[in-house]
Amino acid sequence: MEDITELYGSLVFNDKIMRTKLPKDVYKTLKKTMRENTPLELDVANVVAVAMKDWAIENGATHYTHWFQPMTGVTAEKHDSFISVTSDAGVIMEFSGKELVKGEPDASSFPSGGLRATFEARGYTAWDPSSYAFIKDGSLYIPTAFCSYAGQALDKKTPLLRSMQAISKHAVRIIKLFGGDAKTVNTTVGCEQEYFLVDKAVYLKRPDLRFCGRTLLGARPSKGQELEDHYFGAIKPRVSAYMKDLEKELWKLGIPCKTKHNEVAPAQHELAPIFETTNIATDHNQLTMETMKTVAERHGLVCLLHEKPFAGVNGSGKHNNWSMSTDAGANLLEPGDTPHENAQFLLFLVAVIKAVDEYADLLRVSVASAGNDHRLGANEAPPAIVSMFVGAELQAVLEAIEKGEPYNGRAKELIEIGATVLPRFPKDTTDRNRTSPFAFTGNKFEFRMPGSAFSVSGFNFVLNTIVAEELSRFADALEKSKDFKKDLAALVKKTIKDHKRVIFNGNNYTEEWTQEAKKRGLNNLRTTPEALPHFADPKNVEVFVRHGVLTEEEIRSRLEILTEGYCATIRIEALTLSDMVRRGAVDFALEYQKLLIKTINGKRAVSAELDTSAEEKLLKKLSVLLKTATEKLEALDEAVVAAGGVADIRKRSEFYRDKVFAAMNSLRCTVDELEMLVPVRYWGYPSYGELLFGV
Ligand code: ADP
Ligand code: MG
Repeated sequence: MEDITELYGSLVFNDKIMRTKLPKDVYKTLKKTMRENTPLELDVANVVAVAMKDWAIENGATHYTHWFQPMTGVTAEKHDSFISVTSDAGVIMEFSGKELVKGEPDASSFPSGGLRATFEARGYTAWDPSSYAFIKDGSLYIPTAFCSYAGQALDKKTPLLRSMQAISKHAVRIIKLFGGDAKTVNTTVGCEQEYFLVDKAVYLKRPDLRFCGRTLLGARPSKGQELEDHYFGAIKPRVSAYMKDLEKELWKLGIPCKTKHNEVAPAQHELAPIFETTNIATDHNQLTMETMKTVAERHGLVCLLHEKPFAGVNGSGKHNNWSMSTDAGANLLEPGDTPHENAQFLLFLVAVIKAVDEYADLLRVSVASAGNDHRLGANEAPPAIVSMFVGAELQAVLEAIEKGEPYNGRAKELIEIGATVLPRFPKDTTDRNRTSPFAFTGNKFEFRMPGSAFSVSGFNFVLNTIVAEELSRFADALEKSKDFKKDLAALVKKTIKDHKRVIFNGNNYTEEWTQEAKKRGLNNLRTTPEALPHFADPKNVEVFVRHGVLTEEEIRSRLEILTEGYCATIRIEALTLSDMVRRGAVDFALEYQKLLIKTINGKRAVSAELDTSAEEKLLKKLSVLLKTATEKLEALDEAVVAAGGVADIRKRSEFYRDKVFAAMNSLRCTVDELEMLVPVRYWGYPSYGELLFGV
C-alpha cells in the first residue's frame, strides 16, 4: 500500500516545498503576495524562479509552461525548455523571475470576440501566485492569467480573480459592521463532476462521439435507467480500476478528490473533491477534467464530459457548492451559535437571495451552452427558470421575520434579529431538493444548473459579482446607520419581502411550477440564443463594470464568443450528422434492401408458390423510411447552408436553433427507426446498448 500522505501533492510546488526551498524572507514575501494580492518584486521573483526550477528538475522536469484558460473552455500551454546555451557549446538549465512572472505567447488564434481587432494582436500571460505551480508530463506548469496588451481579459481566470477581490472587499465591510475584523473573504467551491465512460474501441466507430462528444443518432436500447439500479450501484472492476488510477494522479497534483460513485444513467459516474478557494477549485477542476480523459485512455476507455452524450438517459452536470469564508476560516453561510452570529448569517443569506433574484438572468447566461440546453428543463436537471430552495425550516424562519410573527420552530418565539438564536438547519440528504437550481444545503449553496463540460470560472465570477453588489449596497446603507440593530432588522425584513418570489421549495420539474414562475414574473430563458443576449443588458453591464470584473467591451466580446461558439457547435453537429446519415446509415439500409430484393427474387425464381410477403412488407417499410430519411437529410443540408447566410449573429444563433437543430432532430427520428429495422450486422454504428452497457 502506498502512503497517500506522501503521494498527495508530490508534484506541487506547495507551501511545504516552499518553506523548505525558499529563504525565510522570500517565503514570507511570497505568502503575503498570495494572501493579499500584493505585487512581487523582481528580485524576489528571481529567487522563487530558481527554487522552482531546481525543484522541478529534481522531479524530472525539463520544460516550463505558462498554463492559462482562454475562452475556448479548455486550457492552453506552450512549453519552453530550461536550457540556455553556454559559450563552450554546452547547456545550462535556467529560469528567471521575468520568465516566471510574465509570458508573451502569440495569442492571435484564440477567440477574442473582436477585442484584438482594435488592439495589439499579442497577448500576455501573468503568473497567478495564488495557485500553486505543479509538474505534469515533464514540464513545470505555472498557472497564469491571460490578457491582451491593453490589459483586457482574454481568459476565464482574470474575471474570476477580479470578482474574488470585489466580494472580499464588501464582505469584509459587512463583517466589520458586526464588529469582526476579517482581512479577506474568499469564496469556496466544491464541484461535483459527472461523467460517462465508454469503451474506446466502440467509441472510435462513432464519428458523432469523436467530433461532437455526444451521439447524434441511436435508437433507444430496451433498457435505460428505468430500474434506477446504477445510481450508487456496485462499481464494476474496470471502472473501479480507472477510478483508483484517476484518484492517484489527482492526489499527486494536490487535488483533494474525496467521493466517487455511479450516477443515475448507465455508464455515468461522479467525482467530488473537498472544497477549496474558488480560484484553486477552478484550476483543479480543469486539471481533473483533463486527467479524467488521459487516464481513461490507459484503460481502453473514453471519458465523455458532454452535458448530454445520450438521448433518453440523464445528462451530466457540475454541481457548484459555494460559500464564503474568512481568512480565519469562518464559513459565513453557517448559522452560528449566538444571536450575533445569526444576525450576520441572515444578512449574508438575504444578500444571496437578493442577488439571485435580481440577476437570475446572468446566472442563466453563465450556464448557457448548446450542450447544456439538452439538460435544463428536461426533467433530469433543474429547469431554465432560476429559483432557490431554502428548505422548510429556514423558510419558516424567513416567513416569521417577514411577517413579524412568532417562529413555529422548537421554541415559539418571536425572532428578533441580533437577539435570537436560530436553529441549526439540517444538512442531511433527506432534506435535499434535487430539482432546485440553487439550493441552500445547511451551510452553503448548491448551484445545480452548470453543465459538466463548463469551466468553473464563469458561473462563479457571476455569483461572486452579484453577491458583491448586494453586500456593497447593504454596507453602504448600514455604515451610515445611527441605529444598527433596528436598521439591520428592517433591511433583512424588506429584502425577504422584496425577493421571496425567487424562493420555491416544491418540485421544479412540474408544469405547475412553470406556470407559477410565470405569475411571479421569473424569467424562463429556455435556450442559449434566448439567454445569451441578456449578458449585455444595461443592469448587467453596470454590475460588472461597477465591481471592476468586466468592462463593457469585455462583455460584448464574450457575448460574441459565446454566441459564435453556440453556432459553431450546432454547425459541427449538423455536418457530422449529415455525413453519418449520407455515407453511413443510408448505405447500411441500402445493403439490407439489396438482401431483401435478392431474397424476394430468389424465392420467386425457385417457385412462384413461395411466400414473399414478409420480405415485401419489410422492403416497403424500408423504402418509405429511406425516402423520408433522404428528404430530411436534404432539408438539413439546406438549413446548414442557409444558416451560413444569416449575417446578424444573434439571428444566426436563433436560426441554428429553430431550423438546423430542429432539422437534425427530425432526421434523427427517422434514422433511429431505420436502425430498429436493419439487422445488427448491417448497421455499422455501435448501438446505444453497446455504448451504455459495454464497459
Ligand atoms: P452532497 O450530499 O451533495 O455530496 P456534501 O456535503 O458532501 O454534499 O458536499 C458536496 C460538495 O460540497 C463537496 O465537494 C464538499 O467539499 C462541498 N462543500 C462542503 N462545504 C462547502 C463549503 N463551505 N463551501 C463550498 N463547498 C463546500
Ligand atoms: Mg450534492
